[in-house]
Amino acid sequence: MEPSSDEKRIIVVGAGVAGSHAALEAARNGAKVVLLEEHPQVGVPSHCSGVVSLNGLAMLGVEPQSVFAQRTIQGAVFHPPKGEPLELRTKQPVAVIINRTRFDQYLAKNAVAGGVELHTKMRVSRFERYPDRTVGVSVQDGPTFKAGMMIDASGAGSRLPEQAGLSTPDWSQLLPGLQYELGDIQKQGDMVELFFGSHRAPGFFAWSIPTGDHSARVGLASRKGNVKKLLDDLVKEFWPKSAVEATKSGSVLVSGPIDKCWSENFLVVGDAASQVKQTTGGGIIIGGYSGILAGRTAASAVKAPQEERWRFLMAYDREWREKFGSDLRRMGIAHKLFAGLSDETLNRLFEGVREYLPEIQEVADMDFQGKIISRMLRKKKFVGLLPRVAVDSIRAIFS
Ligand SMILES: Cc1cc2nc3c(=O)[nH]c(=O)nc-3n(C[C@H](O)[C@H](O)[C@H](O)COP(=O)(O)OP(=O)(O)OC[C@H]3O[C@@H](n4cnc5c(N)ncnc54)[C@H](O)[C@@H]3O)c2cc1C
Repeated sequence: MEPSSDEKRIIVVGAGVAGSHAALEAARNGAKVVLLEEHPQVGVPSHCSGVVSLNGLAMLGVEPQSVFAQRTIQGAVFHPPKGEPLELRTKQPVAVIINRTRFDQYLAKNAVAGGVELHTKMRVSRFERYPDRTVGVSVQDGPTFKAGMMIDASGAGSRLPEQAGLSTPDWSQLLPGLQYELGDIQKQGDMVELFFGSHRAPGFFAWSIPTGDHSARVGLASRKGNVKKLLDDLVKEFWPKSAVEATKSGSVLVSGPIDKCWSENFLVVGDAASQVKQTTGGGIIIGGYSGILAGRTAASAVKAPQEERWRFLMAYDREWREKFGSDLRRMGIAHKLFAGLSDETLNRLFEGVREYLPEIQEVADMDFQGKIISRMLRKKKFVGLLPRVAVDSIRAIFS
């Protein structure tokens, strides 16, 4: 294919949640959009657990549809390293478990219906800038696409921001994650279960997410240890009679967003910019919402003269940080403190949580955890734990 010199065109790389939202929003705002996806099928393979808040989905303007929604969730059960589990049940459903493959396919289909040109089997290998100030991407063993603007939504590990003169997230901080789809499991309820402790998932946590009456997605990510062994041990302990129907691996991002998400005629969104909650590695809502902002910005910028475009691009960076920045900063601090905690300190922390449960139930928000983190850090019980936390963190650095 000959490179096109259509400088009003926008290229979006990656048909994940961030890319499809960016592409559709840019098309809705009048831009000609090309969406490039490396895999033959959108959404395959999927690495994700698919827990999203209902409020977050509403923020993306997406109704939970039966085509991708598997089950609604009404809270979480926390298993401390030792002792009784702690249940945080909400009055109303707060989250929905989605099938990520079907969700991504649903979003991409909407984007195509909105006028986006989707090309699969297009692995982008290089970003280029040309003397006429257009930009382009080279596809491995394929064509070159030229455009006025590009949005990188190609997920964790992307090197395109670097090629566009930006820093990349600290990819060395990716946590290896492993997940099983379990069948033949005992009757499942409407709660997500989270497991903590050095024998379960050192430095992070393990999870069990009901996907059906007798099926669940069980996984973990961990800073240390053999994730397969840790996961097998967990399954043996809690669901010894279950059957592993599928295995998925993926890397959980905990490094915090990059400092700048734009350069000349280039934007970066989603995991590629590490727009994720460091406490959980969740990035569907933040990535999707930032994708909408990026798509809208790119559609306006591409219509403007070159010398004025930076104002739009800078506004994208400001807007997404205004929405999520302070929460992400607090989640980042919480993650760093949490990652080094000994089992003993974790047990004490959960005892504190037990004491303030009604308040947590009232204030907690899955997507904006900063408020509850700040509130809890002011409580006497947690302030009293800070010296232990400091000692644990120092030990963790030197261990
Ligand atoms: C084990 C695990 C569990 C998780 N669970 C949750 C959860 O429960 N809730 C939650 O909110 N988040 C969760 N996350 C995080 C979530 O999956 C990501 O934050 C989210 O998928 C980010 O969306 P994205 O569109 O930025 O990237 P992705 O979803 O990774 O999409 C990137 C797309 O770009 C394509 N691509 C990549 N490189 C290229 C290239 N060079 N050229 C063309 N196309 C390319 C990929 O094929 C993919 O389709 C989890 C992550 C992991 C690893």
